[in-house]
Amino acid sequence: MLPIEILILRLGGLARTSELYAADYWQSLVQLYSTYGRIISAGKGWWATKYTPPAAVAARKLGGRLACVSALQHYGIGDGDGRLHLALERSGKKPRDVDVIVHWSRRRLPGDRMSVTVPVARAQATRCATTSPSS
Ligand SMILES: [Zn+2]
Repeated sequence: MLPIEILILRLGGLARTSELYAADYWQSLVQLYSTYGRIISAGKGWWATKYTPPAAVAARKLGGRLACVSALQHYGIGDGDGRLHLALERSGKKPRDVDVIVHWSRRRLPGDRMSVTVPVARAQATRCATTSPSS
């Protein structure tokens, strides 16, 4: 594993471009690692590694984190429902994708860069299950 991959993983699997620059990975170097697939764009201003769970990268690309059953699946609890349940704060932008279920919050919910915590996810899943029309 490359040091830049270790750095991103230590930062929580997702790193801001500014954090890479602060660690002396200058712009052309970041671009080079990206070109060779060692680091992956996770949306504007964010980077991931191939070890970062793809669902977390997808959530970050939409400006949020894993929520609800997607977060539980991330922690190895349950199988999700095939859709991406996304934790977004009020400043976030609603994704157009119908397979994305947005869980809005007024403030930043507890969790890490990839996901909300298990208790938060469980609470979201309880509310989600009661309001969704899924069979
Ligand atoms: Zn949900």
